[in-house]
Amino acid sequence: MIELLDVRYSYPRGAEALRGVALTIREGITSLVGPNGSGKTTILKISAGLLRPAAGQVLVDGSDLWSADPEERLRLRRSVVYVHESPVVMRGTVEENVAFGLRLRGVPDEEAREGVREAMEMLGLSQLASASARTLSAGQRQLVALARALAVSPRHLLLDEPTANLDRENRRRVARVLRTLAREGVSVAVATHDRLLALEISDRAVLIEDGLVAAEGGPSEVLEGL
Ligand code: ADP
Repeated sequence: MIELLDVRYSYPRGAEALRGVALTIREGITSLVGPNGSGKTTILKISAGLLRPAAGQVLVDGSDLWSADPEERLRLRRSVVYVHESPVVMRGTVEENVAFGLRLRGVPDEEAREGVREAMEMLGLSQLASASARTLSAGQRQLVALARALAVSPRHLLLDEPTANLDRENRRRVARVLRTLAREGVSVAVATHDRLLALEISDRAVLIEDGLVAAEGGPSEVLEGL
């Protein structure tokens, strides 16, 4: 569980992007919906510990991220994975890209292999394992980034527009994978414009408007009229 308590954040030279956000990303799937520029990406980055709030607190499984000592903070941050809307893929093969997060965490290649294979299989990437990642389409890159995130088995998974470039089949596949993770007790947050996806997969929805939580509750209730 990740809790934001009265979080404020301003980008350098920007207006206040978050103006006192309180929300909880629980086990299961939480969708963040709302207009462009309302603060969804900023909330995900704050929740992942990538941005530090100007005020307020971020609790990861009950521990205050920014008052933790550096070692504890690293441990907490590693329990959260954020997947960017237009993920970076690196030189090398799809398999190497999927293994990247595990390598960063110092997992030996031998040990990593099974997790990487499984993550690629879940996202239908097994056939592409030896392909050069740089040659992939935008949709395939998104799948690789998601596989890279799954390979490290995060307790908390934060996704920014995960289906933006996907065709129907892959969109369905991603929806299925996220539901499986949710059943396994992962807390998943998805910032999305995909209203149908939000309705289909989420347990809760939070409407963000102008740097604040405007509504939250069951997905059909929150998404009604949007
Ligand atoms: P959303 O994900 O809902 O589209 P964002 O969290 O990306 O919203 O943006 C929230 C606000 O912060 C917007 O007003 C946006 O213009 C501003 N913003 C986002 N990123 C930056 C940045 N790097 N520098 C300055 N302002 C930014």
